Amino acid sequence: MAEGNLLINLSVLNRNVQKFFDKSLAEFDIGSGQVLFLFFIYENEGITMQEASRMVDVDKGTTTKSIQKLIEEGYVQSRTDEKDRRIKRLYTTPKAFDIMTRLYDLRNDLRKKLGTETDLNQFEEQLAKICSNSREYLDRDEEDSVIRIGGLMKTSLLDYPEKVASTIFTAGCNFKCPFCRNKELVFLPDNYQYDDPQEILSFLEKRAGILDAVCISGGEPTLHKGLPDLIEKIREMGYLIKLDTNGYRPDDLIMLCETGMIDYVAMDIKNSPEKYAATVGLNEESFDIERIRRSVDYIMSSEIPCEFRTTVVREFHTEEDMEKIGEWLKGAQKFCLQQFTDSANVIQPGLNACTLEEILSFRKILGKYIPNVVIRGISED
Ligand code: SF4
Repeated sequence: MAEGNLLINLSVLNRNVQKFFDKSLAEFDIGSGQVLFLFFIYENEGITMQEASRMVDVDKGTTTKSIQKLIEEGYVQSRTDEKDRRIKRLYTTPKAFDIMTRLYDLRNDLRKKLGTETDLNQFEEQLAKICSNSREYLDRDEEDSVIRIGGLMKTSLLDYPEKVASTIFTAGCNFKCPFCRNKELVFLPDNYQYDDPQEILSFLEKRAGILDAVCISGGEPTLHKGLPDLIEKIREMGYLIKLDTNGYRPDDLIMLCETGMIDYVAMDIKNSPEKYAATVGLNEESFDIERIRRSVDYIMSSEIPCEFRTTVVREFHTEEDMEKIGEWLKGAQKFCLQQFTDSANVIQPGLNACTLEEILSFRKILGKYIPNVVIRGISED
């Protein structure tokens, strides 16, 4: 019935190949989703996660999940590049060496089951052409996905620890925190005028050697497909890069960090897990706290310099929340408590800042779990 229907036939082939590998690989605790990456890493020891994603032609989310599973199962190791400590490189382990011959056998078995060598060679040739056409079409889409920039702060002494930096604000966010001070970057007005990335790059080119770093903030920067490209261009000028993120796109965060694009991460912790959805202005049903947990777990387990930070607001944060946040982030490198300030640009008007006493009490609670807790936006005098 499916004869002549390309989509159905491709789907049947894909499903059956998956079934074959899932069944055959069950004893190794890996599935069809991981085996392709295992072959590529084995044959290209030392590639990065991003290179693996490009070579296998799979999206970043699938790549990070598949490779993390291989790491958890002990088939792949992520090691820091000796020349550039920001880059993580992937290597297979002795546990993988033990099964690779078996995996190659399985791949050959599958080929034999699917058809004669002549049939398969012809099919592969035709399929390669079709894939190339599909890539051309999709790559055009990728080019369209430029980064949308909402503003530039040319010089900042506060945004990157101990560095003079410029800060780029990307437009658009996947949260709607009621206390957000960048309402226009979240609810983009009809006539919003984006900044020209080329003009920003020209400015940074002129300031190279004068400024140390560029902070990329938002909105939420990881929403933009053009972000890695922008970062690469800025890095080539010699700048350090800090990423400010809400952590709701863990795959993008992991990919950027693992490929050495980021020198410092600042991730928002909006509240204790139970109150997270309400604190970011989303419905309980549509919000997935696991995405935040994945970002936290990754940052906590990586060597990348980082800080977590919470903007504290009287209506949202209590001592009990700080206790829960402290337990959750126990052992973090650094935590910042930021004072909320009301303004005309806040999403929900009428919210109140915490008093100095309240913030000091929050710091004391967090200090039981995290040695380095700092306060920003309010003087302790
Ligand atoms: S405060 Fe919340 S809504 Fe505003 S930019 Fe940050 S994450 Fe987005």
